Amino acid sequence: MTKLSFHTTGPEETESLGERIGRALESETVVALFGGLGAGKTTLTKGIARGLDVPDLVHSPTFTLIHEHKGRVWVYHFDLYRLDDPAQLLDLDYEDYVYGPGVTIIEWAERAGNLLPADRLEIRITGERDERTLELTATGPHSEAVLDRLSVNA
Ligand code: ADP
Ligand code: MG
Repeated sequence: MTKLSFHTTGPEETESLGERIGRALESETVVALFGGLGAGKTTLTKGIARGLDVPDLVHSPTFTLIHEHKGRVWVYHFDLYRLDDPAQLLDLDYEDYVYGPGVTIIEWAERAGNLLPADRLEIRITGERDERTLELTATGPHSEAVLDRLSVNA
């Protein structure tokens, strides 16, 4: 499966969807989040972290570009809003995170440019007021396996 889309009404529903996605994730998966300010990327990330059994609070890593959490796997949460140049990522050991074990979630994924890995679960969030559409696209074997599990456990 390469595409799946969801509709939510309100942040709680987006967070619950995130939890479902989190339960379907396995290590070595990268989740690339697209959507403007206030789209719901951090809200979804909170749910994903919960689905990965992360006990601590997840909020936007505003001043650091990355937060690390320990759930049933390591969870690396990047927020690239303040990134000026994708090359800066290389100084943050970005490739060790993205290509290592663990789950990497990237807000403002478009700012990583061509440093996004080939196999990633892309999630595009659009909408207004309390409505959001979340379009999931898999671009390789790891991310496709996630969509397969999600479509079975509807
Ligand atoms: P981002 O990380 O993309 O900037 P946040 O998750 O921090 O966005 O904020 C999303 C905002 O949109 C919150 O204020 C939330 O209450 C609001 N919101 C309203 N409806 C939804 C929805 N269906 N899903 C997610 N957030 C929603
Ligand atoms: Mg955010």
